[in-house]
Amino acid sequence: MLDKRALYRLPWSMNDNPIAWLEVTDLCNLHCEGCYRQHLSGHKPLDVIRQEVLFFKKWRNPDNVSIAGGEPLLHPNILEVVSFIASNGMKPVILTNARALTPELLQELKRAGCAGFTIHIDSHQDRPGWEGKDEAALNELRSQYAEMIARCGGMYAIFNATVYPATLAEVPAVVRWGQANVDKVQGLVFITYRIGTTENTLALDSANREVDLSRLSYVTERFDERFVTSPQLAHIIKEALPAYAPCAYLGGTILHDSYKWLVAVVIGTRRKALGSIGKKAMEVAQAGHHLLRGTYVAYLSTARIGPAIFLLSPFDSGVRRAARAWLQELLRRPASLFDRPYLQSIAIIQAPDLLPDGRADMCDSCPDMTIYEGKLINSCRMDEYRLFGGFVRALPKEEPLQQARS
Ligand code: SF4
Repeated sequence: MLDKRALYRLPWSMNDNPIAWLEVTDLCNLHCEGCYRQHLSGHKPLDVIRQEVLFFKKWRNPDNVSIAGGEPLLHPNILEVVSFIASNGMKPVILTNARALTPELLQELKRAGCAGFTIHIDSHQDRPGWEGKDEAALNELRSQYAEMIARCGGMYAIFNATVYPATLAEVPAVVRWGQANVDKVQGLVFITYRIGTTENTLALDSANREVDLSRLSYVTERFDERFVTSPQLAHIIKEALPAYAPCAYLGGTILHDSYKWLVAVVIGTRRKALGSIGKKAMEVAQAGHHLLRGTYVAYLSTARIGPAIFLLSPFDSGVRRAARAWLQELLRRPASLFDRPYLQSIAIIQAPDLLPDGRADMCDSCPDMTIYEGKLINSCRMDEYRLFGGFVRALPKEEPLQQARS
């Protein structure tokens, strides 16, 4: 189904990227399977956070700053962090498991300038009160937070979930829930689960010393299942939602055929998904945002766009198809004129793949780079820096150590 020629390669790069990934703490109040971050240092001081925000502004040119962790809502200065980012002309977006989110805190965050939330909910989190629930059952919890944010108003709600081999078949339930709540849910993100293993792997640090990989939270002794890939996931979403069609991607740093970020923007009303924007509309959105605002864009702040989206029909075949579907619906049911069209992004992230030669296929132009000791690094591998001083190289154990070191 996927062909890179039919998709727009997002123009993001190291120094001109819509996203900056700010980690304010490594403390958390939940345990998600495969989490990249472990508790090694606690809350980051506010003055360090401010320096990092300014560093991003200078070197990353972001549209939004993703405030991540750990669990950022646990940081005692979260309101100051949000307002500092907003006062520097960037959109603060909080990546949270939402356990600490209350209507009162939501109001305060809104006043501080928060633009929106990416809420991580999935069935492998040991979430108190929701143990043993599958993805479909967790839609009730997703709805609670979507309602809470919609009631507060003026901020967007995006929901992300890690997809494990065992939960792949449950993704359609989340997609259908998202579409049914398209007026309150501006995006869905599915992150394919990846984990390293120690059983057949030895690892070397940058000085070629062997390191103990089991100290990383994203390494286990063995894993016998097959990892889910982006094309597989896209296929499953398409079956559940025929209007879904990806329009943009980021490839891998090594493999020419990997889809590390695969992005779709579905146009739909609360009753019906009409279609998806195509590569041209995404190109217009990226180039137009850059031309008018000076940055590329990752989060939709205009999801309630209404029929104005159909003005892009002359340029974009995907929008044209959606416009036709909208008109057909109008003819069939004239009252649907009052059903406002919304946009909802559906993104798939295929986390790093470890290759047989020990290299990792990362996301090209990684949007989630963070700062470690004055350098931009991939946030998913920061604990390798914190524990071993840099990225480790993983190699098959049968390869003699001497050969691996050479
Ligand atoms: S390479 Fe970057 S975007 Fe990809 S999973 Fe790692 S941190 Fe996220």
